[in-house]
Amino acid sequence: MSLDAKIPAGPLAEKWSKHKFNLKLVNPANKRKYDVIVVGTGLAGASAAASLAELGYNVKAFCFQDSPRRAHSIAAQGGINAAKNYRNDGDSVYRLFYDTIKGGDYRAREGNVYRLAEVSVNIIDQCVAQGVPFAREYGGLLDNRSFGGAQVSRTFYARGQTGQQLLLGAYSALNRQINAGKVKMYTRTEMLDVVIVDGKAQGIVTRNLKDGKIETHSGHAVLLCTGGYGNVFYLSTNAMGCNVTAAWRAHKRGAFFGNPCYTQIHPTCIPVTGDHQSKLTLMSESLRNDGRVWAPKTAELSQKLRKGELKVTDLKEEDRDYFLERKYPSFGNLVPRDVASRNAKEIVDEGRGVGGSGVAVYLDFAESISRLGEDAVRAKYGNLFDMYYQITDENPYEVPMRIYPAVHYTMGGLWVDYNLMTTVQGLYALGEANFSDHGANRLGASALMQGLADGYFVIPYTIGDYLATIGPKPVDTKHPAFEQTKKEVEERINKLLSLKGNKTVDEYHRELGLIMWEYCGMARSEEGLKKAKGLIHNLRADFWKNAIVLGENEEFNSSLEKAGRVADFLELGELMVDDALMRQESCGGHFRLESQTEEGEAKRDDENFAFVAAWEYKADNQPEVLHKEELVFENVHLTQRSYK
Ligand SMILES: Cc1cc2nc3c(=O)[nH]c(=O)nc-3n(C[C@H](O)[C@H](O)[C@H](O)COP(=O)(O)OP(=O)(O)OC[C@H]3O[C@@H](n4cnc5c(N)ncnc54)[C@H](O)[C@@H]3O)c2cc1C
Repeated sequence: MSLDAKIPAGPLAEKWSKHKFNLKLVNPANKRKYDVIVVGTGLAGASAAASLAELGYNVKAFCFQDSPRRAHSIAAQGGINAAKNYRNDGDSVYRLFYDTIKGGDYRAREGNVYRLAEVSVNIIDQCVAQGVPFAREYGGLLDNRSFGGAQVSRTFYARGQTGQQLLLGAYSALNRQINAGKVKMYTRTEMLDVVIVDGKAQGIVTRNLKDGKIETHSGHAVLLCTGGYGNVFYLSTNAMGCNVTAAWRAHKRGAFFGNPCYTQIHPTCIPVTGDHQSKLTLMSESLRNDGRVWAPKTAELSQKLRKGELKVTDLKEEDRDYFLERKYPSFGNLVPRDVASRNAKEIVDEGRGVGGSGVAVYLDFAESISRLGEDAVRAKYGNLFDMYYQITDENPYEVPMRIYPAVHYTMGGLWVDYNLMTTVQGLYALGEANFSDHGANRLGASALMQGLADGYFVIPYTIGDYLATIGPKPVDTKHPAFEQTKKEVEERINKLLSLKGNKTVDEYHRELGLIMWEYCGMARSEEGLKKAKGLIHNLRADFWKNAIVLGENEEFNSSLEKAGRVADFLELGELMVDDALMRQESCGGHFRLESQTEEGEAKRDDENFAFVAAWEYKADNQPEVLHKEELVFENVHLTQRSYK
């Protein structure tokens, strides 16, 4: 099968407008004859479900939490980008496009990224109209701050709770449609498979998480808005429930998986403190607007700090290395995440790390507190400072925060074309669940932008083109594919419940996470990846022999839920390693030890790797097949990224 990304021809700035005009339409009276399934009601899913219902389609929406308000999107802190240029500081749609392509290390599609920048301005208007309380300046205008990889201030924010406020906006729009009878909402319901009829996605199989009931649901199209898979690493900043199950089961039904090894490791997280943890906490990138990142100049000083022979506040200015400001004077502390993360790791590898474990660097607000005053800093970041204080028992107004990179986001996901359709007809992926527009590294505040662009402004146009083509004939729910897929789901559940070994599912998850972090994290090598492949393979075999899954299907059973998700993570982990092995270049945050410059910087290989890797599942325990979507750059010149 050859991949067709369906990127429209013509000048960059006209692609989306022309495409919208060329797409087929469903007339208003016919829209109500179509059913659309939306799995996931985070920002991407809630915005899509509300918009499609508003258009007149009948929507069935699903989430595994007790309310759409609990989607992981609620955790987003820092902000959302938009090329409004309210600051008059040189921003434009083109600049946002350019920054995003460059930030992604030239591994994203030009057409998609330009569209994203173009609709970014509409998102802010839409959200303001919904009542999202973005921060405002004294004069009443919307305020902006800066995020990594940009030299302009284009990030809109609501204190440190931007995701929550945006989600409340989308949730209100969704509720309006639930009330109008256009959306039927299924909470506490987990999708476990996609039903494919004659090559088209026409339904899903779900498990009611309260009573275990397995059901089928039909629709003319299925949208997966099911979030990212960072929890494959066990420890991440993602919500504990985030998983890959929906995307993975779709992958096994024919949807190619794009760039699975692309993971974002965020530089400013609270460091790991021991093996008791099941979750890590992000300290928003917005903090790097005012916080300065540094480490002691020598390993000896770091030792003294760690032994308590020296207090951090006593360390002289000349003994501090503000390494990001030193190495990247143009962008300073606001270099993109991959660059900041790699540099923090280098410091730790040199023995200059701080904190009890020595695996951390400082993020220091002393200078901004003395310049702006503590109240001004509190007004901007108060809730983040409180969170840090509560978790570490250290007061960041008095001592620098300790931070270290942690898994945060996945740029990989289901491969989609320009219309957001996967390689299965009628099956779409939106938000973090698709392989997205961020290439090998996502810039801060761009995930919310992409999820809402997909849901509010892209899918409402593109889905009509497909639906108009297939026509409004009701889906044949008697088709044997529905019963057969349901049977397969039940068999898998029974297989999981038959596991009565002596090792908990959490133990397997933790082991998988350690392997992934060690060999498929910030630094990767052929040797390490080959080792990881064997380790994961054995771990997976062991899981199906020695794991223990408690309880029954016909009850609320978190042990069973987790088991299904970890089983999928184990399979995904192997694919991620295969993808990383194949990509013999350093790009984004993925540093291949074999591919570095003489100065030890990441070295991309545009000649051989300027493509999207899309993997096709064949059968259990069979190697997946790699398809390459070559990336064409007509507007941006590929260069080695520089933030100096
Ligand atoms: C701590 C943190 C802070 C962040 N801050 C920012 C920020 O400031 N700016 C920014 O741009 N980005 C930020 N991000 C990234 C951003 O929050 C996410 O990428 C984005 O919210 C994902 O939205 P989504 O709608 O794609 O998925 P989610 O919000 O994860 O929603 C997934 C939905 O799918 C449902 N679901 C999943 N699987 C199934 C299934 N099998 N069956 C049924 N339902 C299912 C869930 O119930 C949920 O409703 C942050 C991320 C983290 C971890």
